[in-house]
Amino acid sequence: MAIRLSREERAASSNRGATQLPPLSPAFLHEADAANWAHQEIGQRRDIEYGGVIVRDPTGQYFATRPVAGKGMQFDLLAVVGTGNDGYYLQPPGYTCVASYHSHPAQHEKMLQRNLTFDVRMAKAALGFLSGADFYRDVHDRSFFPSSYLSGPDDP
Ligand SMILES: [Zn+2]
Repeated sequence: MAIRLSREERAASSNRGATQLPPLSPAFLHEADAANWAHQEIGQRRDIEYGGVIVRDPTGQYFATRPVAGKGMQFDLLAVVGTGNDGYYLQPPGYTCVASYHSHPAQHEKMLQRNLTFDVRMAKAALGFLSGADFYRDVHDRSFFPSSYLSGPDDP
């Protein structure tokens, strides 16, 4: 189980998040195909971040949750999964989480304003990679979400 928050934060933040999964994709034999389905669903919706999780059922089939829109510019996994009394993520009944996914919005102008040394190519590249916060969360939550998938606004 992944520790979502510090001990103090866990005490104040237990029993949060979603109580049931969003609607699921069709079944896939491979995790990456479920992730691809999710990013195809997001497609050109690049106004804000979208995200979700990839789950496996007891027969070994994979499903992606339908992409959920983030609030503001950030997607929070608690829109899709919940935490228990101890502040740890809870597995959704009947499934095991195997990955998280999210998209990056087309924030090229904001990226250029915040990073004065960036040119347009650098802004595109930065939006196509995990951010520092993404990387921290993915490492932190790796026992609950062994993989994570990202799509950027300039993906083909
Ligand atoms: Zn991100």
